[in-house]
Amino acid sequence: RTVYVNGDYLPEDQAKVSVFDRGFVMADGVYEVTSVLGGKLIDFGGHLARLKRSLEALQMRNPLSDDDYLAAHRRLVAENGVTDGMVYLQVTRGNPGDRDFAFPPEDTVPTVVMFTQNKPGLADNPAAKTGWKVITTEDLRWARRDIKTVQLLFPSLAKMEAKSKGADDAWLVEEGKVTEGTSNNAYIVKGGTIITRELSSDILHGITRAAVLRFAREAQMKVEERSFTVAEAQEADEAFITSASAFVMPVVSIDGAAIGDGTVGPVARRLREIYLEESVKAGV
Ligand code: PLP
Repeated sequence: RTVYVNGDYLPEDQAKVSVFDRGFVMADGVYEVTSVLGGKLIDFGGHLARLKRSLEALQMRNPLSDDDYLAAHRRLVAENGVTDGMVYLQVTRGNPGDRDFAFPPEDTVPTVVMFTQNKPGLADNPAAKTGWKVITTEDLRWARRDIKTVQLLFPSLAKMEAKSKGADDAWLVEEGKVTEGTSNNAYIVKGGTIITRELSSDILHGITRAAVLRFAREAQMKVEERSFTVAEAQEADEAFITSASAFVMPVVSIDGAAIGDGTVGPVARRLREIYLEESVKAGV
């Protein structure tokens, strides 16, 4: 596999970054994941816009132009023969000198890394037919979840807790309300209305969320952006999640309680179809 490091395209075993890089020692960095379907980048513009927002929030320089990011994504997809899969993009603050809590000098060049992962048949994931089981757990992340940082230890622990309980993912809960999944936005459907937490610093502003809500409104579905409790979710007609890598994934149980009749519901199924069709059409 060819990977990108600071302008170079290298075999993965020759790519190197400094051990002093603040991404490595302080999780001082941001990232994006863009899906590839049929060789096209899905929602790439949205991911780029959010990358710039994350960089700004952390007072980090944006080292590349939009065209540079796009060209690098396309080159990696082509060189690595990715038809279905993803491109991972990470920008960390770098660091030329000693480890220090204070940022390095202004002229420090951030470290940019990109790599691809092949996922043949990504859009036909059989899990979309049966749906995910989720557990709930207290949301103990920091309070700026709107910045997409590489500080992912808590969601990783929550994912492991879910797996150890035979579930597929965890929904994180703060003050009794669901914030989001470990790496996705959370939704319920009640009486035909799609309900998902409003945007704030409590959650990541999902790029897939934005697209799916737009498609839902265009299809005359009702959308309410507000928080909901675990009990309300367990009594919903349907539940689902969205993310760049899972698209729209139905959720069929929460903490062992079946949602609706415990099978994939029509709203989640339809939104998945619309999202896949429209986003592939708009792919670059
Ligand atoms: N929420 C969290 C915490 C995430 O990590 C992610 C994606 O990685 C999402 C939501 C979904 O965002 P997107 O649709 O942009 O992938």
